[in-house]
Amino acid sequence: MKSYRKELYFQVPTRRAFINITPEVNQALRESGIREGLCLVNAMNITASVFINDDESGLHHDYERWLEELAPHAPIEQYHHNRTGEDNADAHLKRQIMGREVVVAITNGQLDFGTWEQIFYGEFDGRRRKRVLIKIIGE
Ligand code: ZN
Repeated sequence: MKSYRKELYFQVPTRRAFINITPEVNQALRESGIREGLCLVNAMNITASVFINDDESGLHHDYERWLEELAPHAPIEQYHHNRTGEDNADAHLKRQIMGREVVVAITNGQLDFGTWEQIFYGEFDGRRRKRVLIKIIGE
């Protein structure tokens, strides 16, 4: 069995963003040379997510509104976590909802996606450098 590991880096200029990272994951898959196996992609930070859904701007706008309704950023005093001096409690909660990682099957050297599936990095507390791990195993 072969394995391949790669890290991606993000420094988003805004507090929140959704970025389609499917091209970067495809690039890592090509570099791995693996034809059959599994590909894990996970955020290496507890205020960012990796998730799979549609690359449709209206949906991303809907996510933003829905997440702000569930866990509004302000007022920051509403969260116990922010008593530590941080202001990112909402980002931890948003990350929990949107998930830490995805696993995609690799078949015949391709990411074996369902219809319209794409892989996204979800940033909820940006303006600093963060990592995403890609781990591919197979043969
Ligand atoms: Zn925090």
